[in-house]
Amino acid sequence: MQMINSVKSKDPTLIVGGGPAGASCAWKLASAGIPCILIDKAVFPRDKVCGGALSARTAEILTRSGILPAEELEAQTLAEHSTMSLWNRDELLRTFTSPDTHILIISRRNFDNTLLDKAAMAGASIITGDAVVSVDSSSVTTSTGKRYFFSNLVGADGYGSLVRKCISGKRGKGTGMGLEYFIPLTDLNDKLEDIQIHFGYFPCGYIWVIPDREKVNIGAGAVGSPASPSDITGALNGFLSARGISCDKYQLHGAPIPSRELERNLGQRNIYLTGDAAGLVDHISGEGIGHAVQSGFMVADCIHSGGDRRTFLNRKNCCISIVRQSIFYRHLLFSPFTRRIAMMGLRDNEEYVQGYWNVISGTESYNEMFRRLLI
Ligand SMILES: Cc1cc2nc3c(=O)[nH]c(=O)nc-3n(C[C@H](O)[C@H](O)[C@H](O)COP(=O)(O)OP(=O)(O)OC[C@H]3O[C@@H](n4cnc5c(N)ncnc54)[C@H](O)[C@@H]3O)c2cc1C
Repeated sequence: MQMINSVKSKDPTLIVGGGPAGASCAWKLASAGIPCILIDKAVFPRDKVCGGALSARTAEILTRSGILPAEELEAQTLAEHSTMSLWNRDELLRTFTSPDTHILIISRRNFDNTLLDKAAMAGASIITGDAVVSVDSSSVTTSTGKRYFFSNLVGADGYGSLVRKCISGKRGKGTGMGLEYFIPLTDLNDKLEDIQIHFGYFPCGYIWVIPDREKVNIGAGAVGSPASPSDITGALNGFLSARGISCDKYQLHGAPIPSRELERNLGQRNIYLTGDAAGLVDHISGEGIGHAVQSGFMVADCIHSGGDRRTFLNRKNCCISIVRQSIFYRHLLFSPFTRRIAMMGLRDNEEYVQGYWNVISGTESYNEMFRRLLI
């Protein structure tokens, strides 16, 4: 597709999708005085299937950029966790408490709506309740028949990205899947206060238990797993019934997680991809919110600087590099050959558990952790 020839610089940047990736990109562009229009098919506030866990790294990206100052992030926070227990099926491997870092839990409904408000307040034009249905070399058409011309196009349209399809001919689908129940704490006999991670129920993923003040999110996720969605659902329901929780009482929410290809250049020419649309989800933990926000900022910076993509490739420890590392190291944790050793390491070595916490809280990259543990 010939994109660049038809670009008119007076046309705005068009962003498809108003999740964390699109909203942060729109906020940054509008804050720099660059005209932009964001279109989302949903009417906000909208729900998004997600555990809502923000790593310390994500919290820092949000607060340091100014999109969500510390006091506003605190107001969004439903729970703050510094203790995690790791399990291999029914065996408790280890419990770890971090002296200095926290994982925050937010509601995606409120969080995404707040980021979109921030983009609007910075001057971005926001259109909701209208889906982009087709893209050509200089414009998009929406489900209501409206046509919007663009100078740059940003695909922040999540897992099944239509914009990504324009670049590679693929929709970026993969075999990642996340499922979750929200259960009121008052329905449970056990007192749940800390994060639990349970390995061993299906390949290449885990079951999580993440309480906040009123409810607990019990979910299961796997990226690039040979397990089918029904295998993962069966494992999650079995996990609940073994704990006396009848899953029939609660609504199961599910959504795909991108797992196939990572768009390392975040698109090509004047088309950019961010967040899930670019495949920016950690292949071990499933974390994607912080990567969506950071890639939204990176794309905005790139557009601001005239489109020099080399800035993406040279950035150390940015979302692209972290996701690449997670793709490389996931085999150590999940492969049938090394999984037993990994579980023994987590059980017998406090430093391994500290390393796992550092990685999921984002204070250390996978490379830094393995270098520290193995040298
Ligand atoms: C079960 C589950 C649990 C998860 N838990 C966590 C977690 O605890 N922590 C974490 O960091 N990550 C988690 N993730 C991953 C995280 O949810 C995603 O990585 C993140 O939402 C990506 O943000 P995004 O802005 O790229 O995409 P999205 O949040 O998916 O936003 C995309 C937006 O694009 C819009 N859109 C799509 N198509 C069109 C179109 N054609 N026209 C107009 N609009 C369109 C959609 O309406 C949507 O609002 C989880 C994922 C799952 C499935």
